This record gives sequence, structure tokens and C-alpha cells, in this order.
Amino acid sequence: MARYTDAVCKLCRREGKKLFLKGDRCYSPKCSLERRAYAPGQHGQSRKKTSEYGLQLRAKQQAKRYYGIQEAQFYNYFVEAERKQGITGTNLLRICESRLDNVVYLLGWASSRAEGRQLVTHGHYTVNGRRVNIPSYLVKAGDVIAIAEGSKDSAKFTAVLEANGSRPVPQWLDKTADTEAKIIALPERDQIACPVEEQLIVELYSK
Ligand code: SF4
Repeated sequence: MARYTDAVCKLCRREGKKLFLKGDRCYSPKCSLERRAYAPGQHGQSRKKTSEYGLQLRAKQQAKRYYGIQEAQFYNYFVEAERKQGITGTNLLRICESRLDNVVYLLGWASSRAEGRQLVTHGHYTVNGRRVNIPSYLVKAGDVIAIAEGSKDSAKFTAVLEANGSRPVPQWLDKTADTEAKIIALPERDQIACPVEEQLIVELYSK
């Protein structure tokens, strides 16, 4: 399936929100959205009215882009979220949040979710002692995630940990060591930083 290959900052500018797609740069004054807070393109600065459908669509696009998930997989997550007990929107974000590529990013073991996805694919992390190379792997409460033995001392991880290792970690993750962490419980909505109104996504998919 086609993956987005244009400048990722355009995605944040299109959504009018920081989606944190570019590692350290997102936390610095160099962030494109801070310098050009309008949509990209010739008509980016013109004001537009957004319909109810438009708002719902934008919410879905924001969540997909924030987590770097393709449409088909995102819709599958929605179907799974609907089947689970509880609030569908919260279930949906909780599923996205528990992907391994997201978890290693939150732990500061990758500078962005995209880098997390790549490093997972290359087999640099373990879950409960076993190497996992599937970015969409969903972690569970009690799982122990670690940087693999052969990777932790590499120049790559030394640099990644130096740049990102001190980032605050959400409360649902317990960083037991610099290169090891335990999932205390899957997150509640107030522990998920994703800046979307998930109810709009539920409304969109429920049409
Ligand atoms: Fe988005 Fe990060 Fe680019 Fe800022 S620097 S526009 S947050 S991807």
C-alpha cells in the first residue's frame, strides 16, 4: 500500500496541529507549524468553513497521521474497538497507543513513531524476552519491553537514548531501567496525548 513520502510537516500544517512526526525538531522553535501556522499550498491561508463531515474526516486523518496508520488497518482497529466493552473512541485510541512502534517512541527509545516503526522492523526490541519485529504488535498489561541485548550498546541507540531518553514517560509505562520497561496497564483517555476528538471518528465510521 502506498505510503506518504512528501514532507511530513505539511501534514501538521494541513491539520493545524502538532502531530509530532519529526523527532527533536517538533519540540524546538524550528517546528514548521510554529513558523507557518497555516495550511500548505496556494490557498492555505484562505479561510474555509468546515462542514460536520469535514470535521469528522479531519479528526480521523489526524489520528491516522499521528500514529502513522493506514486506512484499512485503522478501520480494523475501529471494528475491534466497537466490539470491546467501554467507550468506542477511547478503545480505538487505546489500541493505537498500545502498538509497539508507539510504545518504544513513548519510552524515548526512538525519536519519532516513524523511526520506532523502522527500528521495530529491524528487530531491535524484545517483548517478554522475545524479539518482536512487527510494529503493529499490541502490548498488554504486564508485558516487559526492552531494547535487545545486541542493540543497546550500538552507536545508534547511544545517540537515540542521549537525545530522547530523558523525555517524560506516560504513567501507564514503568521504565524500570534505561533500556527496559513494564506495561503497568493500558492507558486511560487522560493518559493518551493524541490531540483528536475521537468521538468525531466514531460518528464518521458509524454513518
Ligand atoms: Fe509537525 Fe514536528 Fe514538523 Fe512541527 S516539526 S510541523 S510538530 S512534524
